[in-house]
Amino acid sequence: MLFLIRFPRLMICGLLFGVLTTLSGPFSLAQQGATAPGAGKQVAAANDPAFLATVDEVLKEMSRITGWELKAPLKKSIRSREEIRAYVLREMDEEKDSKERYASARTAEVLGLIPKNFNLDAFLVDLLTEQIAGLYDPKAHEFYIADWIPADEQRMVMSHELTHALEDQHFDIEPWVRAARPNDDAELARESVLEGSAMAAMLEYQLQGTGIKLKDLPQFDESIPAALAGDLSDTPMLKKAPPFIKDSLIFPYFNGLTFSLAVLKSGGYPTFAEVFARPPANTQQIMHPDVYFANRTPAPLKLELPGAARGASWTLLEENSLGEFGVREVLKQYLDDETAKPVAASWDGDIYATFEEKDSKKLMFFLRLRLANREAANLFYTLYSEALEKKYENRTRISRGSHFFSFDSDKGSVYLRCEGKECVALEGGASGVFLQWLGKLGWPLLPESPKKSDPSVIDTAILQPKPAVAIAATF
Ligand SMILES: [Zn+2]
Repeated sequence: MLFLIRFPRLMICGLLFGVLTTLSGPFSLAQQGATAPGAGKQVAAANDPAFLATVDEVLKEMSRITGWELKAPLKKSIRSREEIRAYVLREMDEEKDSKERYASARTAEVLGLIPKNFNLDAFLVDLLTEQIAGLYDPKAHEFYIADWIPADEQRMVMSHELTHALEDQHFDIEPWVRAARPNDDAELARESVLEGSAMAAMLEYQLQGTGIKLKDLPQFDESIPAALAGDLSDTPMLKKAPPFIKDSLIFPYFNGLTFSLAVLKSGGYPTFAEVFARPPANTQQIMHPDVYFANRTPAPLKLELPGAARGASWTLLEENSLGEFGVREVLKQYLDDETAKPVAASWDGDIYATFEEKDSKKLMFFLRLRLANREAANLFYTLYSEALEKKYENRTRISRGSHFFSFDSDKGSVYLRCEGKECVALEGGASGVFLQWLGKLGWPLLPESPKKSDPSVIDTAILQPKPAVAIAATF
């Protein structure tokens, strides 16, 4: 789900220019564009020999910077906005079919990450058609540049895209990214390696002539991506984007850059060969490169859903993992990022499933999450309870214990329960399903008694009667 935006190997000019604005101050970048053909605001004409010569020149430079030599000639072309739009539409269909896109969008909706009926496809096509400066198509092994990019800005776009081209010739990037499927979080992590390494090489190219090497710069912290994202919000389409969409677009570039910088510091570009051989397993390893280098990966987690969840009227839309990135986005949507960040960093594995009722199109969402320790689980419980209260404003039949929270809403009942280092949540379900689930997980059916002093405690009856006994026999 969280990999809603699957447009590999694109470069978004807003991102590029954001980088340039931010870095040009402190590091006084070399003015690479000064000698570009047709300098100024003119665009290059298709098959312009000067344009083609510039591509070859930048390609050579990128090969020198990364150490990845060009193994085969590269196709290159200049494309109009209409051609880029057609490419975006084609890619969208190839990356995920309409059924998968529907499932992803509905999961984002149940998590509150995009508004109901938000037309994600139309939004992305408009955004990308507006923003793409250039792209590398790993299927056709072809480099495109948009014909509206001024000649003096083309070199930077080229330096990014041509890094993808070289990387592709050495590591066959398309199957490498796809090998992470169906795990969306793992795929986003691999995507971040590609975008981050291309961003790093692009910056290296920009730093030429300054005497500064990227790997000698202090570690990028999150303030850099945040500052760059600030610039981005000035782009008209991104301004309209829900925060989750914006963050999903930015993540591979900037968190990928932070990760790539750590890779470069550990041994330069040759170290990427090791990263391609042992890809990061999740977005946590991208956000915390030390976790990647220590090779710490959560033990697998199963949902263990009860049979009732697969009743005749419900269809499974998708089962996947949110990852640290997703958990942070979900909490951030209702709380602030500073609050969301530390508890998301305690992520130690998760799995979710989204079901849809055939006729009513109602959603039912199951989440099982493991945190690093009991304290982190307690904190998640507190914060997610708060988030749920904000998400479901009209709550009735509220029941609350120290590790249990449930209520009814106009979208069905909502349950949150933590036990040790784990938490489970069911949204849009029924008490019978939830209790069966707890049974299958081997968790005690009844949590500790609710706090009598809590004025929000209205009703604990939903946990007590028949299901506890009747369902126990069906486990
Ligand atoms: Zn890229």
